[in-house]
Amino acid sequence: MLPKAKSVTTSSKSSTNNSADRPSSEIDTPVQFIKGVGPKLGAIFKNRGIETVKDALYFFPRHYEDRTKFLPIKQLVEGANATISAKITGMRKIPTRGYGKSLLEVRIEDAAGGTMALKWFHAPRGMEARFQPGVEIIATGAVKQFMGRFEMIHPELTFNASHPDTEGASESGNHNFGRIVPIYTEIEGVSTRILRKVLWESIQKFSGNLVEDLPERLLAKHKLPPLSQAIRTIHFPPDPKNNDSPEIIDLLEFRSPVHWRLIYDEFLKFEYLVLRKRLRMEKELAPALGKHGGFAAAEALEKLLPFQLTGDQKKSIAEILKDLSESHPMNRLIQGDVGSGKTAVAFLTAGFVIAEGGQVALMAPTEILAEQHYKNAIKIFGGRLNCAILTGKTPQSERNVLLAKLAAGEPILLIGTHALIEDPVVFKNLLYVLVDEQHRFGVEQRRTLKKKGVRTDEKTKRLIYPHSLVLTATPIPRTLALTAYGDLAVSTLQELPPGRSPIKTHVVRERARKGQAYEFIRKELKEGHQAYFIFPLVNESEAEGFTNLKSAVAEAERMSSEVFPDFKVGLLHGQMKPDDKSKIMNQFQRNEIQILVSTTVVEVGVDVPNATVMAIEHAERFGLSQLHQLRGRVGRGGAQSYCFLFSHPRVGETTAERLEVLEETTDGFKIAEADLEIRGPGEFLGTRQAGDLPFRLANLIRDRDWLLKARDDAMDLLKVDPNLEAPENARLRRYFEREGSLQFDRLKTS
Ligand code: ADP
Ligand code: MG
Repeated sequence: MLPKAKSVTTSSKSSTNNSADRPSSEIDTPVQFIKGVGPKLGAIFKNRGIETVKDALYFFPRHYEDRTKFLPIKQLVEGANATISAKITGMRKIPTRGYGKSLLEVRIEDAAGGTMALKWFHAPRGMEARFQPGVEIIATGAVKQFMGRFEMIHPELTFNASHPDTEGASESGNHNFGRIVPIYTEIEGVSTRILRKVLWESIQKFSGNLVEDLPERLLAKHKLPPLSQAIRTIHFPPDPKNNDSPEIIDLLEFRSPVHWRLIYDEFLKFEYLVLRKRLRMEKELAPALGKHGGFAAAEALEKLLPFQLTGDQKKSIAEILKDLSESHPMNRLIQGDVGSGKTAVAFLTAGFVIAEGGQVALMAPTEILAEQHYKNAIKIFGGRLNCAILTGKTPQSERNVLLAKLAAGEPILLIGTHALIEDPVVFKNLLYVLVDEQHRFGVEQRRTLKKKGVRTDEKTKRLIYPHSLVLTATPIPRTLALTAYGDLAVSTLQELPPGRSPIKTHVVRERARKGQAYEFIRKELKEGHQAYFIFPLVNESEAEGFTNLKSAVAEAERMSSEVFPDFKVGLLHGQMKPDDKSKIMNQFQRNEIQILVSTTVVEVGVDVPNATVMAIEHAERFGLSQLHQLRGRVGRGGAQSYCFLFSHPRVGETTAERLEVLEETTDGFKIAEADLEIRGPGEFLGTRQAGDLPFRLANLIRDRDWLLKARDDAMDLLKVDPNLEAPENARLRRYFEREGSLQFDRLKTS
């Protein structure tokens, strides 16, 4: 689980830093010089980002096995993992079907007279020769029963060794049994046993050379062990009978002091960088607004809304207007479920900026959505909010007029798609940049739009930045908001507008129940309601390797001809021309189509209150947050709405359980947390890959408490000694000098 970028870190480090204040560079010895590695294994390691001894030491066990005790064979229990010490009594080779294949069966007997078999289906060449009667072995594996006798299939073996307390136990005994033993993730066929040996060698020879990065004070504060002890113990925990050794259960659950020490280490460094970035941004310049009637304008617009703002909407607006009044750029995220009313917040705050004489850009991911925003703004505010739309569809003549207005500095809200970030679009005075459904855009696209608002102050020659607000319907779990998004301020719309009844959700796995669900949907349609059917793919041809996946095109056919012939079925997917899309959407809106078969393009921007059914096929293929967003398309009118999550009967139990979270809650935040737990942070980071979070051991959910401690400590450091100049913080400063900038580059939120 080493991030790829690690290799970059390592190589650049050796070229930039050979300074004398580093106690030792032995830790940077190439991994191939570790005893027992050599060029071939070295190359395999290198491929995985393990280039140096240090990298190897940071390749942590994923699991542990307690091999402190040897079980008499007679006491074995089927299904359990066990380590036994026994003598070989015999061996036979049993030919099996298939050319040249055979089964190797070794009989053993232990001191208490228990006997059992060890079996190999493809015995490694030369192995047979070692199974001589009388040879002592130690075997570890899962205990099975076959024809009433115990056996182990492909156990891990140590030859010529008996009990660990026997004098002269073989050399390999030290790390393979008689202790709590680490289990590693295999690297390209390199077994955990070989990895264990390599780590054992590395620890013996090099762990004393590890450089401590954390200030003594912080280690003492949290009662955490020093680095070298933590690294030694995490790989080869001492006998749990010693008082200060971790308990096996704590090791297994990654909550031993040595795990904590390394987890805290990762979090502290990360949080320091994130918070430092945020503090730096807070020092940049931006136009301070609010002196020219903006507040009154926002209030006037509020009065034009056909509804009362919710408490959360009001609070968010207040937060945003306060930020906009500061002379530093706002860098804020507003999160709220589908339908929580983020658009109203965007409009009113845009009105504030326009009244102050500024220009505003609102970028949406699809034409449908941009148009919907534009129409809404016109409908609600009439001419009271000066706005315009720019998409790929905008005719050249209109475009020219618009570009001239922008260049002249006319205060306006420009709503649009990616068209906004194209070259010819030049704003004279872009002060406020909004991005709707931010996860649909890449970092670069958001940056490009923002750049259109950056200018140089004539007098001071300093850069002045625009304010920015990104909108998202995928709630960011709190832990991520604190970490990866730590450089953003967050406003939250948790409260839904009144009159929304919770959607009843059912996970449907069995075929019989699916028929019932369809009958139910038919009833809803007969009552005059409408339904969405969502499929993961557009065409069958996309389904290479997933031949069982239903595709939207084929299913639209089947729906209209076989399943619901008495209703009109429409098809909507991302590969259709924009005009065709709008046509279908409008028909669905007017109830000329009752069933909309679609891919996830309906995830954003479709608002049809008469639709009461959301049916999602192959729900197991979607993330929970995405399903939750799809579900948010119904339940927008007064009628009770329903969501059916069809999943393949053969999908695993955990997948089905995962979907059940949606039956239990409609709280987008709980769902996001569950998603984070199941699928990792990638879902929430947009174009940032999950692997970009530089954690090898730390887990945002499991280790939340440590995250918060690290965050507090990082904040303190930045307050008291922001540049880490105090002698007690020198270690940490040296770490950042060595490796910090690389980590920093990975934090690309803005
Ligand atoms: P989203 O947060 O998903 O972008 P929208 O801003 O599109 O949500 O709002 C969803 C619907 O709710 C719209 O039809 C909008 O007019 C309506 N709405 C927004 N705020 C309120 C409110 N406070 N009371 C009633 N309806 C509201
Ligand atoms: Mg929206």
